[in-house]
Amino acid sequence: MNRLVPLKCKSCGIEAESGFSVSGQHVKQECRNCLTYIKFYKQEELPTIADIKARIFDLNDKDLKKVNDLKNKVEFEETAVPNKRFCEYWKLYLASRDGSSVSKQGELGL
Ligand SMILES: [Zn+2]
Repeated sequence: MNRLVPLKCKSCGIEAESGFSVSGQHVKQECRNCLTYIKFYKQEELPTIADIKARIFDLNDKDLKKVNDLKNKVEFEETAVPNKRFCEYWKLYLASRDGSSVSKQGELGL
């Protein structure tokens, strides 16, 4: 499956979609497998919310109900704070990958 921000972790060696979390004023990239810190991202280096939303929509078979169910499941939080907003959508995107048919074959949406 295509990745928006592919990561090859130097620590555990896994190739996967990146993890992101808010860290103070920054967005921190980390390995989802071993949680190793990779680097800080500036807002302009990150995929846009529009890009992430489009991927979420595709991964959920363009079914808005599925997206909304998933939002409840991951406790998605609407926010205007840019870094937090990015991480909320990223969380939803990763959950969408985890739930897709590819990951059911044992890839865990990585
Ligand atoms: Zn790792």
